[in-house]
Order: sequence, then structure tokens, then C-alpha cells
Amino acid sequence: MDSMFYCIPQEAYLSITTCKNLRERPVGKAPAGAPPKLIACEKCTMHPLVDMSKIPTVTLEAYLGGTRPRVVKLNSPKNRKLLADVA
Ligand code: SF4
Repeated sequence: MDSMFYCIPQEAYLSITTCKNLRERPVGKAPAGAPPKLIACEKCTMHPLVDMSKIPTVTLEAYLGGTRPRVVKLNSPKNRKLLADVA
């Protein structure tokens, strides 16, 4: 079952699968019919935490029931270190 998290660049609740799919889009001029990568995703510094499962999530089921995941603190010392390590 997919998990939901808060995407800070897009200011939206998204599923982890959606985040990964959005990142697979081509950058810039996309082939006809294919949506290009969102600028938010291109510039995103948050997704390594998504890949490391270091973001607060709720299950899709809980989300549909009205529960919302907390917003990750990108500037916490722990997360800054994690992000610096993958940069
Ligand atoms: S790559 Fe970043 S901006 Fe794009 S959906 Fe994932 S967290 Fe959000």
C-alpha cells in the first residue's frame, strides 16, 4: 500500500510513488505527448529524504480517512546531515 507525505516544493500531499514517477519525467523538451518534469521536482532538495524513508508518512488508507502526515523539517540538524551526505 502506498504512503502519503507532504511535498514541500509543491505544497501538496503526494504519494511516494507519485514522487518517484514525477522524477522520472524527462527534463526540458519532452517527446510529444510526454509531460515534462516539473520545475519543483527539478529543483527539489527534499527527495533524498523520501528515498531514505526519512519523512513522516501516513498510509493511503489513513490519508483517505482524514489523517495527514507531518511536514518534514528540512532544517533539522539530522536531516541537514543526511542531505549533505548525499549531495
Ligand atoms: S521530487 Fe521533490 S518536488 Fe517532486 S514530488 Fe518528490 S518531493 Fe515533491
